[in-house]
Amino acid sequence: MEKKQFQAESKRLLEMMVHSIYSQKEIFLRELISKASDAIDKIYYKALTDDSISFNKDDYYIRIQPNKDNRTLTIKDTGIGMTQEELEENLGTIAKSGSLAFKKEVEMQDGQEIIGQFGVGFYSSFMVADKVTVYTRALHNEEGYKWESDGQDGYTIEPYNKEDVGTEIVIHVKENAEEENYDEFLDEFGLKSLIKKYSDFIRYPIKMDVTEKQPKGDDDDELVDVTEEQTINSMVPIWRKNKQELQDKDYQSFYQEKHFGFDKPLSHLHVSVDGMVRFQSILYIPEQLPFNYYSQDFEKGLELYSNGVLIMEKCADLLPDYFSFVRGIVDSEDLSLNISREILQQDRQVKLIAKNIEKKISNHLKSLLKNDREKYEKFFDSFGRQLKYGVYSDFGANKDKLQDLLLFYSSSEKKLVSLKEYVERMPEDQEHIYYATGESHDRIEKLPQTEMVKDKGYEILYFTDEVDEFAIKMLLNYDDKEFKSVSSGDLNLEDEESKKEAEKQKEEHKDLLSDMKEILGDKVKDVKLSTRLKSHPVCLSAEGDVSIEMEKVLRQMPDNQNIQANKVLEINNKHDIFQALVKAQETDKEKVKLYTNILYNQALLIEGLPIEDPVALTNDMCKVMV
Ligand code: ADP
Repeated sequence: MEKKQFQAESKRLLEMMVHSIYSQKEIFLRELISKASDAIDKIYYKALTDDSISFNKDDYYIRIQPNKDNRTLTIKDTGIGMTQEELEENLGTIAKSGSLAFKKEVEMQDGQEIIGQFGVGFYSSFMVADKVTVYTRALHNEEGYKWESDGQDGYTIEPYNKEDVGTEIVIHVKENAEEENYDEFLDEFGLKSLIKKYSDFIRYPIKMDVTEKQPKGDDDDELVDVTEEQTINSMVPIWRKNKQELQDKDYQSFYQEKHFGFDKPLSHLHVSVDGMVRFQSILYIPEQLPFNYYSQDFEKGLELYSNGVLIMEKCADLLPDYFSFVRGIVDSEDLSLNISREILQQDRQVKLIAKNIEKKISNHLKSLLKNDREKYEKFFDSFGRQLKYGVYSDFGANKDKLQDLLLFYSSSEKKLVSLKEYVERMPEDQEHIYYATGESHDRIEKLPQTEMVKDKGYEILYFTDEVDEFAIKMLLNYDDKEFKSVSSGDLNLEDEESKKEAEKQKEEHKDLLSDMKEILGDKVKDVKLSTRLKSHPVCLSAEGDVSIEMEKVLRQMPDNQNIQANKVLEINNKHDIFQALVKAQETDKEKVKLYTNILYNQALLIEGLPIEDPVALTNDMCKVMV
């Protein structure tokens, strides 16, 4: 018989398993039971929807059988089984579903942590086994197979005459070693408590022979050992349980059993609706951003059950994109078992459920924001960007629903604030909601353009996410207050007198300004005296809809190379450099050219825009020095 090698990545994982800390080893049982339950889900669904398969509810169960003498633990299920190809594919490599994700995550984090939190399916059995044998026969297959591995370097597969459809996994439990005692996994009591702890809500009976002392006869005090098959788990799915009976840890272990994430859930909601449509749902807000969240691989969706029977693993139609981070399950007795993906999209019930769920999530987030700010900020740190995308996408169709969930960093509060908080604090004379964009809070803090607005005592929201300004342009205003960039053309912050003075100055220096514009040519739309600068010499502002930050973002996309902001070079006439320019205008036009070019490049640098010709700039600077 040929021995096949594990894939390289499986080997690494196996090694990690074997060296994992002891306290985590017990989760192997949860993993195997959960896979067995999945396999029963699959056949159960088939049996209910396919008349050619006879259906008897008692046929679906999981059986746990320890054998102390042989040091084996058998986990048997009456699920769908595996064909030879499936065996090869599923147990020969871990590059399947959740495990693939695991593999990537391991590279970023300490792997040992993850095994305990997340588990890695079938492979975790090697934490407690020095050999694992799998007997399996797939539905509609005459033949069964035996798979065996010591978890070291490879595995064997051979035909095996298995009587019934399903899978039997035999764990050859390791011998006890120093400080590591594996007997718990062979002991009735130990196993019973592990099943209760991790797998109580599994919906199929988990059966085990249990030996208990019972009176020998009716009126006899003598006790004897009686062995009986018992169902260990409560079998009521967690979502059918009464909320009052459940604790945070129950929701947490369900999250882990379901492999909803590598993290702990940040928050959960348990919903039971009995109206136009009836359904129960458990929804989770994860704590951490899934590593593939912003990639093509990420699939949103909730597990969908029809009256306790799994009909779809990821039903995308139940979640809007802006809540795609939500994980969980929905069970409705109003759905047909035979519903297909295509029908599902049209289905009135599904639409009603989706609408209801959206509202529930939205309210939940709002109440988090109100009652547990710290948690909400943690959430926002991970998923705030998605909400902002939500405001921006679909031409702003959902902006009203989402605007109160947004947070931005504030110049005055030095922390995240909501738009409502901003508006409530606005001084009476302030008309707009001001924002400034840049790479980081530090950089924005130093932007010359913010000087005047801050001086007025107005709060500024700092935008550091690419999507921020796009989302805000979609919102246009909040509570009738228009959003305004501190870099936009018309800030209109001066009083009448200063305005008059500005007009006068403009007229006086008309020639200088138009010469400067000529020197810069197409690089800028205009050169102006600034009304927003106090101490800095120059800055750039933008006229029209496209801001300088937006230009930066759009330029990263292949189709938008030509989109440009209408840039205006603003010069501070209260700065000494302006007097130098005025003087040069009278005596030395070459100097005006030199200064203009340097000042323009300075403005680019402050904005974080690339210098078009760095060599020319350094030469210019040298000219000034000599
Ligand atoms: P994952 O699904 O996270 O990759 P596993 O490594 O545990 O996890 O399992 C790989 C695949 O093997 C499963 O997705 C499933 O298709 C199959 N499998 C595992 N255990 C069983 C079982 N008891 N019955 C049928 N198929 C199983």
